[in-house]
Amino acid sequence: MLNSKWWEGPSRLKENPVSWSVSDIICQPNEVDIEKRKSKLVNMNLTQDTPPWYADRVSDYDKMIRVFAWILRFVNNCKVVNGKCKVSELSQSEIEYSENKLIRLVQSYYLSDAKSSNFIETFLDNEGILKVETKIINRNDYRSFLYPILLPEKCEFTKLLIRTVHRKNCHAGIQMMQCLLRERYWIIRARNALKNVMYNCVVCKCFKVKSMSSEPTTLPSDRVTDCEPFEIVGIDLAGPLFLKNEGKVWIVLFTCAVYRAIHLNL
Ligand SMILES: [Zn+2]
Repeated sequence: MLNSKWWEGPSRLKENPVSWSVSDIICQPNEVDIEKRKSKLVNMNLTQDTPPWYADRVSDYDKMIRVFAWILRFVNNCKVVNGKCKVSELSQSEIEYSENKLIRLVQSYYLSDAKSSNFIETFLDNEGILKVETKIINRNDYRSFLYPILLPEKCEFTKLLIRTVHRKNCHAGIQMMQCLLRERYWIIRARNALKNVMYNCVVCKCFKVKSMSSEPTTLPSDRVTDCEPFEIVGIDLAGPLFLKNEGKVWIVLFTCAVYRAIHLNL
């Protein structure tokens, strides 16, 4: 090893680089580029530190839609000249119009340069909403399922939508959330978007934490001594149960400490 060239490398490294031998292979940059993996950008996501004005101070999707609907109502009322302003509760059509308008706003901001890629075909529907043409359009199903609305991954609107659907469906998991949202929306990199939102869900966090564990210890002598069944018992009451005649009953639960048998008495 002491005489080995492993320590120093080839002797020509100590000479002037000009005298080094040159490889005969000439690299063709154009040919190398052919091998490069081609990928198309579906969209460009802009990250925002502060939520946009329509999602600011709102933590619920439905509330955001309704607030926006009230704003639109106000704007329309301002334009009325002959004094016939709308004062009633919001109508279904107003809420739907508000949601569509917000979706168009989000899409024009985040997906303005979205083009059809190898994976998804997109088109503008007659309301101006960017939708995805799925591969299952020959299926007999709801139009919203066959042509879902395209939504960006990292935007406050999508986050609020996911959060609300997640909460409404009793904190459903990722798989179920994907199915539920896919019925109407096509979120770019949906799994990532879902993970991000659900990772920050406080209720889910509480249920996912590991419970406290303790060192297993030896059983007391009452639990391990040979004896008749139910010689050593633990007793507990379950109930009360309410009878049809308005009386109350309890169930007495006897557990055998040695054989773990149980006996119930009404
Ligand atoms: Zn949750």
